[in-house]
Amino acid sequence: MAQTDKRLIIASNNDGKLRELSDLLAPLGIQPVAQRELGVTEAEEPAVTFVENALLKARHAARSTGLPALADDSGLAVNALGGRPGVRSARFAGDNASDADNIHALLAELADRPDDERQAQFHCVLAYLRHADDPTPIICHGRWQGRILTQAQGDGGFGYDPVFWVPEQQCSAAQLSRTDKSRISHRGRALRSLLEQLTADHRTS
Ligand code: IMP
Repeated sequence: MAQTDKRLIIASNNDGKLRELSDLLAPLGIQPVAQRELGVTEAEEPAVTFVENALLKARHAARSTGLPALADDSGLAVNALGGRPGVRSARFAGDNASDADNIHALLAELADRPDDERQAQFHCVLAYLRHADDPTPIICHGRWQGRILTQAQGDGGFGYDPVFWVPEQQCSAAQLSRTDKSRISHRGRALRSLLEQLTADHRTS
């Protein structure tokens, strides 16, 4: 990142993700800028892995702006569904599905499954590119283990949070404060790992 320009493009239009990433980056003096503020269009997400999609999104944002870019590709993987919804988490119930539609579809697929068959993880892959043709991107993967509830609980967070049971807190992810969620979530873990690597990167550059 250039010394004079602390801007980092966040290659996402998801307000929930933007809030969480901005909270976590704020103490570092990095100035996160949502890609839509610079008119960056949404990139395609054609791949079947989080890693590939994160890289595609970051590269698209870096190429469009000439700035370093950070992309998050994340989602929910349910063991009993062979890892679905996975990279299709945002569109599980269809292309323009709302969070409520996706939750409804997930609960319907898992109906009648006992607790021990409702294991799931949130995954977050962050891809950081210093510039669009960066051959050595920093890629970090965070994972958060939990279980899918039989009905929604709580009204915080976004996405599948209301049906994601967090065993260590004995509540759903939607019942955690933003600070508590960031401390233990897939995104918080991936971002802390990224920050460590960015710090090391700056020391050696
Ligand atoms: P993406 O924008 O393709 O990465 O889609 C991410 C989708 O995964 C979101 O729209 C949510 O449905 C789900 N997701 C990712 N992270 C979270 C989270 O922290 N809580 C709840 N749902 C999440």
